[in-house]
Amino acid sequence: MKVLKFGGTSVGTAQRIKDVAALVANRGKNIVVLSAMSGTTNSLVEISDYLYKKNVTGAKETINALEAKYSRTIEELYSSEEFKKAATEAIGERFDFIRSFNKPIFTLFEEKEILAQGELISTTLMYYYMKEQGINVVMIPALDFMRTDKNAEPDTQYIQTKLSALLEENPDASLYLTQGYICRNAYGEIDNLQRGGSDYTASLIGAAINAEEIEIWTDIDGMHNNDPRFVEGTKPVKELHFEEAAELAYFGAKILHPTCVLPAKLNNIPVRLLNTMDPEAPGTLIFNSRPTHSIKAVAAKDNITAIKIKSSRMLLAYGFMRKVFEIFETHRTSIDMVATSEVGVSVTVDNERNLHAIIEDLKKFGTVSVDHDMVIICVVGDLEWQNRGFEAEVVNALKDIPVRMISYGGSNYNISLLVRKCDKLKALNLLSDRLFK
Ligand code: ASP
Ligand code: MG
Repeated sequence: MKVLKFGGTSVGTAQRIKDVAALVANRGKNIVVLSAMSGTTNSLVEISDYLYKKNVTGAKETINALEAKYSRTIEELYSSEEFKKAATEAIGERFDFIRSFNKPIFTLFEEKEILAQGELISTTLMYYYMKEQGINVVMIPALDFMRTDKNAEPDTQYIQTKLSALLEENPDASLYLTQGYICRNAYGEIDNLQRGGSDYTASLIGAAINAEEIEIWTDIDGMHNNDPRFVEGTKPVKELHFEEAAELAYFGAKILHPTCVLPAKLNNIPVRLLNTMDPEAPGTLIFNSRPTHSIKAVAAKDNITAIKIKSSRMLLAYGFMRKVFEIFETHRTSIDMVATSEVGVSVTVDNERNLHAIIEDLKKFGTVSVDHDMVIICVVGDLEWQNRGFEAEVVNALKDIPVRMISYGGSNYNISLLVRKCDKLKALNLLSDRLFK
């Protein structure tokens, strides 16, 4: 059994819903997980915001606009009056529910109930469409099995027990359908797995049923080996280790968040990124692969600031690093790259919100200098230290570019280099030329 998850854009229009149904119909008894149609969760957030602010008109207008969009979708999606009517009634109930929150008290609890409606609606539309197509689909409501514990962590035992029972109750189904993102908390109240949480749902389900594979369908053909906006001829990466994918997540590469794939990683379930627009394309397979002795991908992150703290007091002293890092902690700023020497340390941050205060505090410990407008270039692959020559290849490729920092050996999967923003384009292209051609 596989888990097939489709994101908001993949079910974003009536036509896309039809395409997804066609894609999954004859692929065996799998569990299909859907996000809300694209834009819907944002609209529901907006509605909640109006309700918090007691702006009834704003809420009503946004609800009406959203409902109108669904009426059009229904009109386009179904061919028979019977299914149009059934879907209209079911979706109408969802909107009655959303409208019922126009009450004096509106809290986080009410908001979560509203946010849950997007996935309930998209799966209802899909359910009726599949039924109209004669597919023997069974709805497995996420609110009946997806649950978090008192620490707001997924209650994996509960999920597994409940989900298996639900599947066993419906042995004749040819396909199961469920909602991403939504769940109940330890008290049984409606909750969610945070924005973008449908991937997490897919991964949790995959782990619970020990799925053969988890497919994450979006509108891009997997993870590319470099940024297509800056480099010509980039190609999708065929295979990535979970750790390599985790390294790339920071770089805004359209890829799964490491926590979202953790259940899959721990249970050794491969995750495949696929493209609804090009279903035949192989996409990217993420799994606990064996060492491949190859470099897989290059990514860049803009708006990086480098801070150097130099102090002769650091030489042979202990506790210096802690003092430096503590300052960043106090100012709630995370450090990304680190490079040290005996008498200095350079770190990078990706926001300058508290920079002034950080610098003021750092000056107590040493001489501080700052470089703005820098870019982290990250090279990901099998960079285990005993492999020979890989780091040399990377550094060599950039030999004509001034490099401010290099970080290597932090994991077995990456080497990061800090360069000026004005050198980013050149750096990305030089790396692609050297590593992938
Ligand atoms: N619909 C939710 C969101 O937009 C969850 C998801 O799409 O993954 O954040
Ligand atoms: Mg999403």
